[in-house]
Amino acid sequence: MTAVEIVQVGKSYGDVVALDSVDLTLDTGEFVAVLGPSGCGKTTLLRCIAGFERIDHGRITLGGRVVTLPGVHMPPHRRHVTVVPQDGALFPHLSVADNVGYGLGRGRGKTARVEECLELVGLGGLGARMPHELSGGQQQRVAVARALAPHPPLVLLDEPFSALDASLRTGLREDVRRALAEDGATALLVTHDQGEALSMAHRVAVMRDGRIHQFDTPAEVYRHPVDSWVAQFVGEAMLLPLEGPAGHAERMSRLGVVRLRPDLVDLAGGPTALVRPEQVRIVRAGTLAPGHAVPGRVAQIAYHGHDALITVDVPGSQTAMVRVIDDPVTAVEPGDDVRLWVEGDCTAYPAEAVAAESGATPLPVVG
Ligand code: ATP
Repeated sequence: MTAVEIVQVGKSYGDVVALDSVDLTLDTGEFVAVLGPSGCGKTTLLRCIAGFERIDHGRITLGGRVVTLPGVHMPPHRRHVTVVPQDGALFPHLSVADNVGYGLGRGRGKTARVEECLELVGLGGLGARMPHELSGGQQQRVAVARALAPHPPLVLLDEPFSALDASLRTGLREDVRRALAEDGATALLVTHDQGEALSMAHRVAVMRDGRIHQFDTPAEVYRHPVDSWVAQFVGEAMLLPLEGPAGHAERMSRLGVVRLRPDLVDLAGGPTALVRPEQVRIVRAGTLAPGHAVPGRVAQIAYHGHDALITVDVPGSQTAMVRVIDDPVTAVEPGDDVRLWVEGDCTAYPAEAVAAESGATPLPVVG
């Protein structure tokens, strides 16, 4: 069943087009992330759904009820939507339990529902505390419990983890995702953090300049971005111009042979392939490698513990990025001579589309 239907919604502030004919549909119980750079219109979209902003054109339907049309505007408190803001925004003078129960009125079962929601976010038994007696992460958990308490059909999360440090964020994301799922809530998260969007959501809407460029599962968005802008915004990407005739899966690039996805084999006119750093293999020079492997020298290594991102200077070309699992046997050092090659099928885009996207002329295949 459809929980949220956004059809051709537009919203401008004077000359600034914040939303440009946005279409988006959320199924009941679904977790959708709207991912985009600063200023792309994410918060405006969330505010239009919540009813804090009026729209210029289009339609928003929540749970089958039309809540917004131009000239028709259901006030926020009648939409049964709750918002988890960036900073939690708890009432400092109310206990944790009173914060969570704030939207529940005086009905029977209130105490049980408050405790149930605190349990869902991992804070069972802390209802008597005051907000200032909690850590930042715990306060965000209370904000989520408060949003869930009235069983809203839709929870809107406005970058709720951005103020927290990285180690806290990972655990909290997973707990919040689970709490929302256990409560059966439909949720929309706006974020500029790709890791957050990809790890939490069932589907991700990638937004730029007020438009949604792609709305797909996290794996589709990462593996098959619809254009070179999405490719570069979601994860590290190398865009490699290709040479060779249409009809051939294997084409030449500055990183040697690149194999195109079967449905793209007929792309003509020097297309540009998307290669992710984890598709590039690296060995020390002198070690066994395919004949088409290209030489390079390790420039720097960003070590992340579980993996590392290696930057390699490729003679006569730009640098290449290689992601490797941390493994002492294959480890390389800055200054090492290496050989590189690309594995797996690649997405590719017509050269004109990439040039139009970046405003740049594609690089030559060989330096
Ligand atoms: P961020 O990630 O930085 O919060 P965002 O993607 O949420 O950005 P919005 O806050 O929706 O972006 O803003 C979209 C555009 O609309 C921006 O250009 C912004 O400057 C503009 N804008 C937002 N609110 C207003 C306002 N009240 N008055 C005028 N312009 C606004």
